[in-house]
Amino acid sequence: MDDKVDIKMMSKMLVSPQKEILLQDVFGFKAFRGKQAEIIERVIKGENVLAVMPTGAGKSLCFQIPALMFSGLTIVVSPLISLMQNQVDALRLLGIEAATLNTANSPEEKDAVWEKLHSGTLKLLYLSPERLMAPGMLDGIERLGPACFAIDEAHCISQWGAAFRPEYEALSGLHVRFPDVPIIALTATADQATRDQICEKIFSGNVTTYLTGFDRPNISLAVEIKKGWKQQLLRFLKARRSKSENGIVYCLSRKKTEEATALLLAEGYNARTYHAGMNSADRSQNLDRFMAEPDLIMVATIAFGMGIDKPDIRFVFHTDLPASPEAYYQEIGRAGRDGAPAAAHMLYGMDDIRMRRMFIESEQAEAGHKMRGHQRLNALLAFCEAPVCRRASLLQYFGEDTAGASCGNCDLCDNPCETVDSTELGQKLLSAMYRSGQTFGVGHIVDIITGKNTPRVEQLGHNALPTFSVGRDLSANEWKSIARQLMAAGFITADMQHGSLQITDKGVQLLKGKAVFKRRPDVQSLKQNGTRKRGRKSTAADNIPADAEALFLALKSYRREIAAERTVPAYVIFSDKSLIDMAVKKPATLEQFGDIHGVGASKQQEFGAQFIRFIGDNTL
Ligand code: ADP
Ligand code: ZN
Repeated sequence: MDDKVDIKMMSKMLVSPQKEILLQDVFGFKAFRGKQAEIIERVIKGENVLAVMPTGAGKSLCFQIPALMFSGLTIVVSPLISLMQNQVDALRLLGIEAATLNTANSPEEKDAVWEKLHSGTLKLLYLSPERLMAPGMLDGIERLGPACFAIDEAHCISQWGAAFRPEYEALSGLHVRFPDVPIIALTATADQATRDQICEKIFSGNVTTYLTGFDRPNISLAVEIKKGWKQQLLRFLKARRSKSENGIVYCLSRKKTEEATALLLAEGYNARTYHAGMNSADRSQNLDRFMAEPDLIMVATIAFGMGIDKPDIRFVFHTDLPASPEAYYQEIGRAGRDGAPAAAHMLYGMDDIRMRRMFIESEQAEAGHKMRGHQRLNALLAFCEAPVCRRASLLQYFGEDTAGASCGNCDLCDNPCETVDSTELGQKLLSAMYRSGQTFGVGHIVDIITGKNTPRVEQLGHNALPTFSVGRDLSANEWKSIARQLMAAGFITADMQHGSLQITDKGVQLLKGKAVFKRRPDVQSLKQNGTRKRGRKSTAADNIPADAEALFLALKSYRREIAAERTVPAYVIFSDKSLIDMAVKKPATLEQFGDIHGVGASKQQEFGAQFIRFIGDNTL
């Protein structure tokens, strides 16, 4: 351990240490990922950077390493107080002088932080925009001579405009007041409009943007048609090997989150609810529990998630269709940030599509905005009904060319499906719609086509239509799937108010025999295939050789004890990946311990001896 750099001594050195040395000795990582090195170089040269990278890509290092190289203070602006505290705890365990000033500080804590600020020992100070813009704060910071500003979750500047959090808007004054201080802004939101707004507001255009790969290869992707979400959710959970892992279950409505939580609790899972309608005390208590308990499943609306940087979330389960590919990507991106296997599993059905269309229509927005909403939704549906590799279709949407390669980690790669020309079937369904006046929902149309004499069919005389029972050789479920695929392909749309199906211009072409409808006949059977494979593929523990698994589990509970003693979340002590590395390598000396993933000088010193002893005691 003597060959590792002592960070306290280092900050007094005149020449700042190299970034590679900091990466190894402080963070315990072997190599930079993606564009990290390039971004760090730019920032320490004093240039502005906008880093757009998916969740889990490692954005934090892009300002944390420069912060250790600068002799002055780095100010980190971050929107959520609860998450700032976690980041600060994690940095302190790495031996880095970091602090946060917020409303939760006691007067003593505040004094201690200011003392460190004045003596120049603090490297990183985390502040909310409100705190940074509070009277006198910027003056105080100016006197300290800041070395760098990092603006995390920078998309907030476009989403939370002047009305909601005016202080975000005020961040646009930073580069004017501190023209010589580099600013690095970070976000996982990729769309062009948001990026343009950040560039303009925070940097007045004077910035280099880094946009890096959107692939998250460790997250397996699966989509199934909704049959009964409760059973499907339970089946998904039961198929997973580890019973002790964190996950998120997203539901469309508050009511459903409560229903799902009750279901999971009744089945013996540790589950909690999170939605915007709860009082804030309950909400933050549930959030704290999620951060601390290793097996808690958070059942939430999309109110939950922004800024959640828990690295070991093992799955994200959508009980309903998300709003767009962007929303889906952001939501699943909360899983597997540690790089270990994780699962994204989504359910969707006809009702979801109708609901989503209704949401878009009910928005107070101009027509163009609504049209884009519908287009995004169509893109997501196409992803749901994709005939080949799901990841390829998602990445294509985000503008990444996968050159037709298959990922090997999605339900369609696991179980390739065939497409068949189903033009005639499509025409049958459209014709039943046409002849019944395009005022009925999918259920009634399918009744007509399969020849089901329901009271309604009889009452309306629809059993006399020429299309009555022309599709009796397929089941009602198969016909519903065909209707969904016709919708995904744009041949039919659903009326916003009533859910009645209507034929589009493209559908008219199909009826006339001028268009072709290709269909996946297997979409329905994904249910059986998808879940089983998913569970087998995607737990962190799957990467561990069988003989290391017991030690890994023991290390996990040991980590939990230590975390509880120190009242920090478990991952702050070590990530799963670090524990797996320990379980496999079984380090017996401090030097060997220093080679473990995620072990820098500080953690080597702090935890080395006790973990080596623990590993020794638990190895045959
Ligand atoms: P982001 O902010 O982009 O969502 P984080 O900065 O939280 O991602 O990083 C995600 C995880 O990846 C963290 O556990 C972090 O320690 C780890 N990480 C970051 N950079 C590296 C690297 N170069 N090598 C190994 N692990 C890394
Ligand atoms: Zn694939």
